[in-house]
Amino acid sequence: MSSGTTVTARVERLASSAYVGCNTFSLLPAMRIATVALLVLATLAGGCGSASSPHRPQVPAPVTATPGADSVPLSDAETRLRDYVRAHHADDIALLERSVNISSGTQNLAGVRRVGDLFVEELVSMGFTVRWADMPASMRRAGHLIAERRGTRGARLLLIGHLDTVFEGEGQRFVRDDTIARGAGTSDMKGGNVAMIAALRALHATGGLEGSRVVVVMTGDEESAGSPLEVARRDLIDAAKRSDIALAFEGGRAARAAIARRGSSGWTLNVTGRQGHSAGVFTTGSGYGAVYEMARILDGFRRELAGDPTLTFNPGLVAGGTSVQRDSAEVSLVAAGKTNIIAPTTIVHGDLRFLREAQKDSVRERMRAIVAQHLPGTDAEITFRDRYPAMPPTAAGAVLLARFDAVSRALGYGPVEGDAPESRGAGDVSFVAPFLTGMDGLGVSGRGAHSPDESVNLNSLRMAGERSAILMHRLITGPSLEPIRP
Ligand SMILES: [Zn+2]
Repeated sequence: MSSGTTVTARVERLASSAYVGCNTFSLLPAMRIATVALLVLATLAGGCGSASSPHRPQVPAPVTATPGADSVPLSDAETRLRDYVRAHHADDIALLERSVNISSGTQNLAGVRRVGDLFVEELVSMGFTVRWADMPASMRRAGHLIAERRGTRGARLLLIGHLDTVFEGEGQRFVRDDTIARGAGTSDMKGGNVAMIAALRALHATGGLEGSRVVVVMTGDEESAGSPLEVARRDLIDAAKRSDIALAFEGGRAARAAIARRGSSGWTLNVTGRQGHSAGVFTTGSGYGAVYEMARILDGFRRELAGDPTLTFNPGLVAGGTSVQRDSAEVSLVAAGKTNIIAPTTIVHGDLRFLREAQKDSVRERMRAIVAQHLPGTDAEITFRDRYPAMPPTAAGAVLLARFDAVSRALGYGPVEGDAPESRGAGDVSFVAPFLTGMDGLGVSGRGAHSPDESVNLNSLRMAGERSAILMHRLITGPSLEPIRP
C-alpha cells in the first residue's frame, strides 16, 4: 500500500485542570489542525457563574429607594444591622483591598493561606473557633478555613466562601475608581467573603450572634478543586451535615439568587476499529473504522437526547487516527494518522449537565445503550466521572428565596428572583445541596471574573452586607424553614 503523508492534529486547552471553578463558559484554545484527525473543543467542567452573561454590569438600586409595598418592614434590630453595615462600609472596602492585594491563585498555596488569615482575625474577634482543614501535600491545595460558633438558637447556618482566584493576579493591585474597584478576586469572590464578614460583624456588634449556630467554610480551591474530590470536599460536606441552611457568597446580581444549579459529570468515549487501507472501508473485512463509529455515537446522543433544557451533553475534545495520545487532565489529545488508513482509534472527552441525580443516572444508561449499537468491525466504551452533584429546585429552597426577596424589598433594593438552573455553572454550594437547603449569589456584583480585568461595584458590597445580615438575623430568630431538609 502506498504511504500517505503523516499529519498530526493537536488540540489543547489552556487551563491546567479539568475542574474549572466559577463562571466561565469561555472557549479557549489554541488549536492546530491538519487533515486526518479530528478536532473541536470547548470547555470542560465549570463553575459558578451565569452562562448567559457572566460579565453584565450590575448596579444595585440606590440605597435611598423605598421598600416595596408588600414587604415586611425592618424591625428596630434590623434597622440597627443595616445602619451598622452602612457605617462600616469604608472598613469593608479596606478589608477587601487588603485581601485583593494578596495574590491567591489556586496554586499559590501560601497566598491562599494569607488571604484566609485576614478573615481568621475577623472571625476570632467575633467569637468563632477557627481552624484550617489541611489537604494532603500530594493534592497541592491550600486547605480550607473553617470557623464555627456552636450555639443552640435558630437555624444552623453554613456560610460558604472561597479564598482562591482563577486569575493569579501576580503584581496586580487593588485600584479604586469611585464606586468601582479593580483587581483579581474583587468580585469572585473576595468581595463576597467581605460581604459575609460585614454581615457577621453587624450581627456580632448588635448581639445578633448570641447563641447562634454558624459555620463558615472558605474553601481554598473552589476554582480548581483538588483531587480526589471526596477528600477536597469532605470538610465542606461534614459542615453541611451539621447545618440546616447554606448561604453561599458567590457573585450575584441585585435581582437574582440561585436556589437550583445543574450538576456536572465528565465522560470519556473510547472507540476502536480495525486499521486497514482506506479503500476497504465499509467492507466486511475492514469494517467502518473508529471515526465513523464515533460519529454514529455522537449523532445518536444528539438525536435521542437533545431537547430537554435541563440536560446537556457536550463533546468538548475529540481526536481520532492511527494513534491518539492523551494527558491525565483531559485537556489535550494528540492524534496522528494518514488519509489512506481507516482510523483504529478515537477518543472523546465531554461533560454532562443535569438537574437531578436520577436524571443523571437514566441519561448515562441511555448513552451506554447508544454506544453499544456498534457499527461492523468497531467497538466502543463510555465511562463517566462524577464532578458536581445536582442542586435541584426544592420547596424549602423556594421558601428561603422568598425570605431573601422580602429582606431585599424591605431594604429598598427591590425583588429577587431565582436564576434559571441552566443559566448557572456548578459551585461549592452544589456539594452541600444533598444535605440541606442552599442559596447562592449573595455576594457582590462585578465584571470580568476570571480575567485580568476583574472589577467590583462597591455599592453592591454594601448591599450584600445589609441583605445578608438581615436574612441571617431572620433565619436565626424567625420561624424555621419547613421542610428544611430536601
Ligand atoms: Zn467563585
